[in-house]
Amino acid sequence: MTPATTRRWLFGDQLGPHWLTSARQPVLLVESHGVLRRRRFHRQKAHLVLSAMRHRAAELGERCDHVVADTYREVVSSYDALESPEATSRPAADFVNGLPNVETVPGAYTATSTADFLTWTGDRKRLLLEDFYRWQRRRHGVLMAGDEPVGGRWNLDHDNREPPPKGAVTLGLGQAYRPREDDIDAAVRDDLDRLARDGVAFRGVDGPRRFAVTRREALSALSAFVERRLPAFGPHEDAMLAADPTMAHSMLSVPLNLGLLHPLEVVAAAEDAYDRGDAPLASVEGFVRQVLGWREYVWGVYWWQGAGYTSGNALHATSPLPRWFDDLDADAVEARCLSDVLAGVRDTGWVHHIPRLMVLGNYALQRGWDPARLTDWFHESFVDGYAWVMAANVVGMSQHADGGLMATKPYASGGAYLDRMSDYCGGCRYDPKVRVGEHACPYTAGYWSFLDRVAPELSGNRRLAQPFAGLRRLKDREAVVEQERRRGDRAP
Ligand SMILES: Cc1cc2nc3c(=O)[nH]c(=O)nc-3n(C[C@H](O)[C@H](O)[C@H](O)COP(=O)(O)OP(=O)(O)OC[C@H]3O[C@@H](n4cnc5c(N)ncnc54)[C@H](O)[C@@H]3O)c2cc1C
Repeated sequence: MTPATTRRWLFGDQLGPHWLTSARQPVLLVESHGVLRRRRFHRQKAHLVLSAMRHRAAELGERCDHVVADTYREVVSSYDALESPEATSRPAADFVNGLPNVETVPGAYTATSTADFLTWTGDRKRLLLEDFYRWQRRRHGVLMAGDEPVGGRWNLDHDNREPPPKGAVTLGLGQAYRPREDDIDAAVRDDLDRLARDGVAFRGVDGPRRFAVTRREALSALSAFVERRLPAFGPHEDAMLAADPTMAHSMLSVPLNLGLLHPLEVVAAAEDAYDRGDAPLASVEGFVRQVLGWREYVWGVYWWQGAGYTSGNALHATSPLPRWFDDLDADAVEARCLSDVLAGVRDTGWVHHIPRLMVLGNYALQRGWDPARLTDWFHESFVDGYAWVMAANVVGMSQHADGGLMATKPYASGGAYLDRMSDYCGGCRYDPKVRVGEHACPYTAGYWSFLDRVAPELSGNRRLAQPFAGLRRLKDREAVVEQERRRGDRAP
């Protein structure tokens, strides 16, 4: 048995009060700069993690050993005994399990432990999000009236996912929560400048800190979202407006993934707003589905699938990421949606779900970029990027590299979808209706060219029967494919 006073070693994504068992427990936080050398992270992601760890160390004061080192091992090996909550990635968990002086204790990252997830998977043949989500709602009693969902329906997607309001330039919700930087941020910035001079490579540009890094900031961000954005969350959750990158999204993935907020408290805050009559059911249900459904499901899938899942490549996609994309060179791109989204990643390390899936992921899928390289790119380029999020989202959902375990058909779409769900196409030099020629939309042409390429693997997929029938009828099929072949990896 580990005594109650054993020092608890916390990683940089285990920073809220719920990671400790008592108000006196001693803590170890190790800032490993070796990690920054191994991957080319977004500069703002590096800032957020270091800032969050240093703020936590300052809060904990003398009971926290805060050590800056090259590797974890050199620090951890100098302690007789430590305990550490279950790590949030497989490599980190393997590393910790191999340390003789560290005992692993239960984690506090999600409302679903790996054991819970295994209970749910049982002998199911397909892991449907909808089934998991209902199971979560029931067992946590969220938006329930007895054994039935509040309002009589589990899923209000039908009321959500609308295009942007006609003629609107923004949703008019004002600026999202912004923290105020302090001396700790200034010191982090100086250190990152120094590391960059010493050869550590970063992606993207530096910029003002936009996300919560302390518990207090995280709670403020949560309240600000519930008050101002949650009521509008549902209807336009899939829509994009060039002048309103945040729309009604919460921007809570950073404090959630830093372990500053527990998902159940986030869900409870949204449910309370519904109970008070401050937010409609469709928006609250849509949001709860993201946090209690999708996030927990993605977490469970990461642990449930073996380590080999992330190297899946069912569509035999082997092209490298082109330089302009890898380097977030938005200025090299003329297609308005892709240029704007890439600029969002470069400047802030964050764009919402649909730009990730239908602009970035869709473009890569259409061109057959290597899913493992793309996974690294997402992991490194986003301020909320972590290994566990990549498996289901990038490998499964976005690139269909798991052969359809996550999604029954690939998330590929042409320019018509982007035109319906955004205001990008109006001001673009490409036309979503045009497949061939100077004004051919790269997404429209890319969609048909993608179908042409994956026909051998996917022609038996019943959900693609209609698109493949359309492909067979396409008069200019050869010209489209040839044009896309000639485009190669040039920026569109
Ligand atoms: C290709 C791709 C890559 C992604 N990469 C990441 C990533 O690196 N980190 C990350 O946290 N999310 C990732 N997501 C999921 C989702 O896009 C982000 O969680 C979301 O955009 C974060 O913004 P938000 O906090 O405003 O989310 P909101 O739209 O306000 O949603 C609320 C919360 O729900 C959770 N959530 C919703 N959908 C998902 C999902 N599919 N997977 C996990 N959590 C979800 C997040 O915690 C989010 O904060 C990715 C999705 C795709 C398609």
